[in-house]
Amino acid sequence: MNIHEYQAKQLLKRYGAPVADGVVVMNAGEAEEKAKQLPGPLYVVKAQIHAGGRGKGHFKEAEAGEKGGVRLTKTPEEAAAEARKMLGNTLVTKQTGEDGKTVGRIYIEDGADIDRELYLSVIVDRSSGRVAFIASTEGGMDIEEVAESTPDKIATVTVDPSEGMTDAVADKLVAALKLDGKAAEQGRELMGTLYKAFTESDMAMLEVNPLIVMENGGLRVLDAKVGFDPNAEFRHAEFEELRDETEEDPLELRAGKSDLSYVKLDGNIGCMVNGAGLAMATMDIIKHYGAEPANFLDVGGGATKEKVTEAFKIITSDAGVQGILVNIFGGIMQCDVIAEGVLAAVEETGLNVPLVVRLEGTNVDKGKAIIDGSDLNVIAANDLDDAAQKIVKAVQG
Ligand code: GDP
Ligand code: MG
Repeated sequence: MNIHEYQAKQLLKRYGAPVADGVVVMNAGEAEEKAKQLPGPLYVVKAQIHAGGRGKGHFKEAEAGEKGGVRLTKTPEEAAAEARKMLGNTLVTKQTGEDGKTVGRIYIEDGADIDRELYLSVIVDRSSGRVAFIASTEGGMDIEEVAESTPDKIATVTVDPSEGMTDAVADKLVAALKLDGKAAEQGRELMGTLYKAFTESDMAMLEVNPLIVMENGGLRVLDAKVGFDPNAEFRHAEFEELRDETEEDPLELRAGKSDLSYVKLDGNIGCMVNGAGLAMATMDIIKHYGAEPANFLDVGGGATKEKVTEAFKIITSDAGVQGILVNIFGGIMQCDVIAEGVLAAVEETGLNVPLVVRLEGTNVDKGKAIIDGSDLNVIAANDLDDAAQKIVKAVQG
């Protein structure tokens, strides 16, 4: 789960990170009154969407003005005017895709005078099996670009989990960021703060881009992006209120509520599979035969008829789906139960795309008999290879 910049900053502030004061604006009417709570003289108006690159982004609508999603203003009135322009409009950035994202919340922040913009992030590094800090003096810009053109300007330092943040690690990072004096002191402390926030909150990603050195020599977290590890969400009921459902894919959200692992993809063949490994194999073989899967969907080992029905409805609600491949191995789950679930779902939702069903395992003959006995337009397949060829052919004609 990802959260907004202002939520990430509030969380980091509680851990003691240097973060400016700011106010959240949910509707245009409250913008000016809220902005007046800030001291000035600089008011930064920031569109809150779950995507970066807002400053360099652009709005689709003319009334939002020419500027991007981060605007510097001099008075509360001006800040409120910019907030009003952005609210409800669609911001397109390098990370949103062409469709962009509708801005439903604005963060107005007490502005800083910037001396230098740095990059600092924390991730789970799977190759070392550790938490890793990534630091660069080239902040405020696209880090992928920096990685490509000047990789020597990026330092990666991993943290030994048995030791936690140490002086040695903090010193390396502070050196990589070329901090000195008061900023170095603050930087060392910040590394410990971020490590604590990252591990205690079970984050998957924490990116501060930019971390700034202000003209007064102090450090400040100017932008913050946080994603939590979904596998640890059960440990953090307190984060549930940070969820902004308008930022999530509606079908993924619906699948999550039914405890289905569903990821929407760009292809046109909807897949319903049990087990993540089999789901991967199914996607691979669809690609092998020249088509693209519309989703990853694992209904789980012990799915009920209701769960299969819901999964089927989710697949058919995706406008991009032009054909469906059901590929189930009946282990714990029995093929006849699956067959009944599929037919119940088809009856409920109707079916206007080709459907190929491949069943194997427990009660496979019973399952096949149920599919064959129905008068619905279902194509039976003998094995995975056969199934993939049949669905690709049905979709591509
Ligand atoms: P992003 O474009 O989505 O990554 O949004 P950021 O929060 O990183 O802001 C983009 C850029 O706006 C920063 O790199 C800064 O150059 C500028 N900016 C943001 N806040 C301030 C501020 O308080 N003062 C000044 N002078 N510039 C700011
Ligand atoms: Mg940024």
